[in-house]
Amino acid sequence: MAVKNQMRESLAGKGIVCAICGEKDAVGMDHVPPKAIFPPPRPSDLITVPACDDCNGASSPTDEEFKVGISLLVGVETEGNRRLWTEGALRTLESNRGLLRDIQSRIVDVDVHSQRGIYLGQERAVLVAAAPIHEVVIRTMRGLYHHHYGESLGKRARCAIQRMNPGRVNDPVLLDFIFRLPVFSIAGGAFKYRHARATEEPLVSFWLMQFHGAETVFGYSKRASDPWEPDGPPMAGDRWSSVPASD
Ligand SMILES: [Zn+2]
Repeated sequence: MAVKNQMRESLAGKGIVCAICGEKDAVGMDHVPPKAIFPPPRPSDLITVPACDDCNGASSPTDEEFKVGISLLVGVETEGNRRLWTEGALRTLESNRGLLRDIQSRIVDVDVHSQRGIYLGQERAVLVAAAPIHEVVIRTMRGLYHHHYGESLGKRARCAIQRMNPGRVNDPVLLDFIFRLPVFSIAGGAFKYRHARATEEPLVSFWLMQFHGAETVFGYSKRASDPWEPDGPPMAGDRWSSVPASD
């Protein structure tokens, strides 16, 4: 791709360090979040950061898995989310046979009950893998940190993310603080986020990111040298999502 090659020439040898890992030389610009989750026509306000070959997700299978996973999780209730499914995820599954087989192997029929326990019948559901979503959201958070604060978290900081679950908020004071922060919105609101970092400890930062109006993730960074409590499986594990009906 000519544009990509031009970008390589313009960045290569200039000593610009990758925004994500903070170590290797950047060879191009990468979108955070990945442009894959914004179906064409691509919005003009997407965010890019310099990235090395290893951290650039544009050509990695993980970005495709992320797109399909997010699309399954946010459903097809709105016009934008339906486009993400039909023009994004479905097209990827048509061309990526390996991913299609993986998704198919995760589809089952589950019994559906009403809140009162009345059996409503069966519904197709797919178990959405957490790992690719976890990896891409952390990369997005690191990229956004660089975008806003002009430096990389790199190895100096560790990052963690959790799916927002109002029923299991363990720090309401922190959450109240975060919800008072200004909202950044790109791609016509398809991605919204809030963020802050501690003035006395810049490696400590907080992020609230919402994908396609539905999937909300809380993320934070800490100094790598600080005590770190493992917070369980990535994104609290794989999750069930209903399979959109095909037209
Ligand atoms: Zn890198």
